[in-house]
Amino acid sequence: MQRIINVSFLTPGFEVVNEGHIVVEDGRISDAADGFIAGEPYRDFLAVPGMINSHTHLGDAFAKGADFSGLSVNEAVGPKGLKWKLYENSTRRQRISAMRKTAGYMLSSGTTTFADFREFGNEGIAELRAALRGIAIKPVVLGRNCELSKCGGLGLNVDSLGQIQNNMKKIIAIHAGENTGEIEIALKYDPDVLIHFTKATEQEIETAARRGLSVVACPRSNMKLGAGKPPLRQMLDAGINAALGTDNAMINTPDMWCEMKFVFENFDVSPEEILRMATINGAKAFGLNAGAIEKGRFADIVFTDKPNSDAVYWLAEKCGAGNVKGVMVGGKLIIGDYGKSAPVIHGNRYI
Ligand SMILES: [Zn+2]
Repeated sequence: MQRIINVSFLTPGFEVVNEGHIVVEDGRISDAADGFIAGEPYRDFLAVPGMINSHTHLGDAFAKGADFSGLSVNEAVGPKGLKWKLYENSTRRQRISAMRKTAGYMLSSGTTTFADFREFGNEGIAELRAALRGIAIKPVVLGRNCELSKCGGLGLNVDSLGQIQNNMKKIIAIHAGENTGEIEIALKYDPDVLIHFTKATEQEIETAARRGLSVVACPRSNMKLGAGKPPLRQMLDAGINAALGTDNAMINTPDMWCEMKFVFENFDVSPEEILRMATINGAKAFGLNAGAIEKGRFADIVFTDKPNSDAVYWLAEKCGAGNVKGVMVGGKLIIGDYGKSAPVIHGNRYI
């Protein structure tokens, strides 16, 4: 099936094509070019790539009301941290319900894919899959202590790296760098993706760049847990593929607009770099054919209000969930509608 969407859109080079059109066939973008033609009228909106939240623990959503203020990383999420005590008092039903609501929020705020560290083995993965049933958001499930056939790869801590098998054909992602010395350990296991990287040395930045690793920064989580700041400027200058994640759902809202705004306000990086970290760099990190409005990629598209001025700056610094008016996944408009007045969210059906 073909659909032609008349809309202004962001190109892979981060320029805005005003009054252009996007052609979608079989869930993928087959053309994106200048000029309105006969098709669906989204003229009042800006089409941008669906965001990729490159690091979450959606399973933690049941405890999003818990107070983690003042706790260190180890006190919060370490082996004897508060997180695990909260899990002991939770039920499967509570966890699934909270994951479902939170996934709905992510999708309705413009995140079309998320890469999730899923704890608790096969059962943990089954809970996540149950929570996501019927919700179009795309998960990259990174399990641990689980069958590899059930997940897209492993999401590990430095104390659980024994699970890595030789010649694994799946993604290996490791939490490394909230504590000194972790990156050195993680690098020995030939990972694809490192999460956090706040305590990276100059040499580790160089090594990660040389090996073509991706690094997911979670700056709001790091700030809340006193884990320092990821060296984003140095990482980008070295050529590391840097992406962004919101980390534990019990500590942070999984809202990529908030994460981007925080980076804009606290780091020496440009709006374009921030937007790349939230979209195409995440796609690259996890081998996804998404993250840009470009021929051949999946039509995972978010329709926002159309800003009057610099769109890239507006998206990185000012846009929020309330500005998202429609969300398309694989060419299907999941949230919003069109017609005389074009996409409008009809209330959030998952929350
Ligand atoms: Zn994490």
